[in-house]
Amino acid sequence: MTIVDAVAEPLPRAVIDLAALRRNVAHLAAIAAPAETMLAVKADAYGHGLLPIAEAGLEAGATSLAVLEVPAGLVLRRAGIRVPILAWLHGQDTEWRAAIEHDIELGISAVWQLEAIAAAGADRPAVVHLKVDTGLSRNGATREEWPRLVDAALALQERGVVRLRAAWSHLADASIADDEAALAEFRDAVAEAEARGARFEILHLAASSAGIRMPEARFDLVRFGIAAYGYSPFDDTTGTELGLIPVMRLEAPVVEVHVGGTTHARLAIGYGDGVPTLGIAKSAVQLNGRRCPVIAVEADAMLVDVGNQRVSVGDTAILFGSGASGEVTAEQYADWAETIADEMVTGVTARVPRVYVG
Ligand SMILES: *Cc1c(COP(=O)(O)O)cnc(C)c1O
Repeated sequence: MTIVDAVAEPLPRAVIDLAALRRNVAHLAAIAAPAETMLAVKADAYGHGLLPIAEAGLEAGATSLAVLEVPAGLVLRRAGIRVPILAWLHGQDTEWRAAIEHDIELGISAVWQLEAIAAAGADRPAVVHLKVDTGLSRNGATREEWPRLVDAALALQERGVVRLRAAWSHLADASIADDEAALAEFRDAVAEAEARGARFEILHLAASSAGIRMPEARFDLVRFGIAAYGYSPFDDTTGTELGLIPVMRLEAPVVEVHVGGTTHARLAIGYGDGVPTLGIAKSAVQLNGRRCPVIAVEADAMLVDVGNQRVSVGDTAILFGSGASGEVTAEQYADWAETIADEMVTGVTARVPRVYVG
């Protein structure tokens, strides 16, 4: 009997440099100190993979984790992670009791959420972070609703149903003036809650942007997301300029070469893998040390112009990475595609294997 090896379909891959992640987190934690560092691992750690990123971030100095929803928090708990985990996006199907009994701390924006906690009948108090909207208008009690939310939390604390851990909010990062107005609004809301009898263990407001550039917004804890992955939260500065290293390198093998007046290479990666279709005329990939303009992006492949250089099937093209091999970063690719680095890395779809190094 003859055994014929099936030729494995060549795959793109996202190489995740955990050493870079650790360096970024350590760098940011040093900037934020004495405030603590919470690492935002929402959206599968911005596409980098929830668990490996959470573990590496905690090794490097993060002391807590932020997820959007309870299920991601439960995944972290099941993996044995014991640090504080904050989840703040809740719906009608939120598993309140499981969250509380697995010590997932809960961001709370509305009285109905406190009522759901009271009805959950958990075996311990829920640890809650009351969220006030300071202008972003996305999740968080409005200033009109805030007193009622605080009073409801205080009443439940009295009954041992909740423990008031924090007051917090999120900045829009639209402009320095906006963030300063939001900071004042936040201080005001905290003072109002305190006047009603609330005693918060901690306050937190800043994400990457204010965590880096607005010391007065750091309070007790900074929730770092995008900067930890190596990208700048600012339009006027790159991650590299901030001393950060992009963590993800997106690469794809050459699967076909068409030699003609100019040589075209077909890469095994396309929009089904998260490659943007916007800005194709401006985009380029790095192949054998050279920038090669993108000609077309299809569902599972893309075509690049390799000029007159020699290219072979099996060579690896880099779409974006740390810049160490002359490739662009996700920030540059995002500029071509008229988006942001967050969306570039988070948009790499699940069918692209994540490969961990470092
Ligand atoms: C995503 C998010 C963060 C992290 O934001 P970055 O700008 O990526 O640092 C922090 N806090 C909340 C509430 C978030 O949703």
